[in-house]
This record gives sequence, C-alpha cells and structure tokens, in this order.
Amino acid sequence: MSLISQEDINKVRNSANIVDVIGNYISLTPKGKNFFAVCPFHEDHNPSMSVSPDKQIYRCFVCGNTGNVFTFVEKFLGISFAEAVFMVAKACGVTLSSEQTLKKEDKFQKEHELMALVLKIYQNNLHAYEGEKALAYLQNRGLLDDTIKEFEIGLSLNKNILHDLLKEKEYGDKMLEDLGLINCNEKEFLDVFRNRILFPIHDLNGYVVGFTGRCYLTDIVPKYLNTKETYLFKKGKVLFNYHRARDAIRLNKTLILVEGNMDAIRLSSVGIKNVVALMGTSLTKEQIEALKKLRVHLILMLDNDDAGRNAMLEHIPKLLKQGFKVDVIDISKLGKYKDFGDLGDSD
Ligand code: ZN
Repeated sequence: MSLISQEDINKVRNSANIVDVIGNYISLTPKGKNFFAVCPFHEDHNPSMSVSPDKQIYRCFVCGNTGNVFTFVEKFLGISFAEAVFMVAKACGVTLSSEQTLKKEDKFQKEHELMALVLKIYQNNLHAYEGEKALAYLQNRGLLDDTIKEFEIGLSLNKNILHDLLKEKEYGDKMLEDLGLINCNEKEFLDVFRNRILFPIHDLNGYVVGFTGRCYLTDIVPKYLNTKETYLFKKGKVLFNYHRARDAIRLNKTLILVEGNMDAIRLSSVGIKNVVALMGTSLTKEQIEALKKLRVHLILMLDNDDAGRNAMLEHIPKLLKQGFKVDVIDISKLGKYKDFGDLGDSD
C-alpha cells in the first residue's frame, strides 16, 4: 500500500473536514472556535485534545500528539499512511486515481474475489426457500436477522453446486480445490461443505479466507468443520472478527479474547463489539503480533472447562512477557449466560 499519488492525497485533504472525520472515532465537544476531546493516545481524564477546523489539525496539550486528518486515522487505527488516506477518502466519498493501482497490488485478487463470491452464494442459500430450516434454526437460537447479516452467515445446501455455478467464471477447478471449497475425483466435483450453516472467516485485512461449517439438521459428524489449511487460510494466523472489531477495540482500549466464533457473535450481538475469537484454545506468535499492534488491554474469556482454563494459564505469562495488561473473566460466575456458546446446544 505504498503507491498513492500526491495529487490524490491533496484531493482527499481538501475534501475532508478533520472535525467530521475525528468525530467518527471519538466524541468531540465544541468550545469557541475549536473542538475538544479526551485524548485517545494517552491515559486521559480531561479533554486535552483540541481539534481546529481552521487549521485542520489536532493537538494534545498533555502528550503532545499532533497532526492532520491522516495522522489521526493512521495512529488511531494503527494502519499505514496510505491506508489512512483510503479510509478518509472513503469517509468523504472521494474516488482515488491510485485505487486501480492498489487493487492490482493484491497478489491474491482472484482468490479473494472467488471467496467473496462463494460467500454470496452461501448467503443467498440461507435466504432462499431451501434455507428456511437453517434460518429458523438460527432464529430459534436467538440470532437476530441483523446479526446474521453482520456476520454474513450462510448455508451450504445438500448438493454439489459450487463447481457448476462457478465454471463459467474461469477460476479453474484447481483453485476451488486448493482453497478448500471442493474435492475433485475422476467424475465428480464435490462441495466440501454440505448441509451446513456457514460462518465466514476473514483474515486480518478483512478478506474471506475460509469457513466454519456447523451441521444443523441431524447428527452429522463432525459437528463443526473448518476449511482445511490453504495458502489463504492458516488458522494460526487469523483471529475471528478482528477486522470488524478493530475500531471498537481501539475505542474501548480493550479487547475481549474468546474461544469460539459463536462466543464472539453472541457478545457482539448484545453490543459488546470489541471481541475477537481464537477459534480454539491455542494462541500463536502471529496472533500475538496482531494483537500487539492494537496496543490495548486484553481480557481473556475462554471456556470454563479444563481446556479453556489450562489455555489461559498457559497464555497469560506469554502475554505479560510481551507487555500486555491482561485480565481474566471467570465465566463460571456468569450464571446462565455461560452457555451462550455453541449455538445454545444445551437447550
Ligand atoms: Zn494525549
């Protein structure tokens, strides 16, 4: 993300109002000619940051943090300068001439397109006639339509459809197989996911890289099926919900780390948005690196079973060593709410 023209940067700077942009992330109070806010870059208790619409800059009188609209977004979201220019451009509805160049830089553009398309197919299935039972299943377990939409939950049908639907698209059978979508034998192209409710898994940049499929009809085993490890999907490198939760995590300066995708979806659906799931109990070096970039307080909330408790005991020293401030939520104290995981299988 380094290719961005000066012309584009100027165009965005001229269209953006720093007060509107910063106001998307933190709360601003007008006072005189300027606006004031509690500074997000240091442990602030009084509004030490001023934002000047005239000069189009912000400045904190305590920690000295200062800059323009791009600097703020870059620092606040922990992203690159070019990414910040893009975010601001998007917020102001400005189209950049460098956009095309940047798109070409995506080494896996075709794969990303394919995964996004497959996700659309799965989402459509859920809302089609054949998806009625699966949709009812989710609704009966308390998932609202908004949550289903937000988490892009889909459905694979009880038949092999992906190969036929996609054969005109020139992705090639090999790509479909390599990405863990179909299995090929001499005569047939078999969908990997059949008759399962599907939860897309995104990489840290928000690209769909895999799925978790849960059976919902009969006792098909395994109950949960993840996409195999592929060159896009490496379980140890992703954190479920990271790309959606990033802003909320920065706003709250806190991240809640849970075990399962459903734990994250449940918490998010009741307004606790700063939540990310490990999709298991292990925590890899790559995941710790991704968490470190956010520079926030961590709250571990793994399952209240032996595996969950042991994992927390194992992870805490590693995290402390990396400079994290860590707290633990004891789920056993949450009473009836402790069963929010696993789509409420206990009922
Ligand atoms: Zn400050």
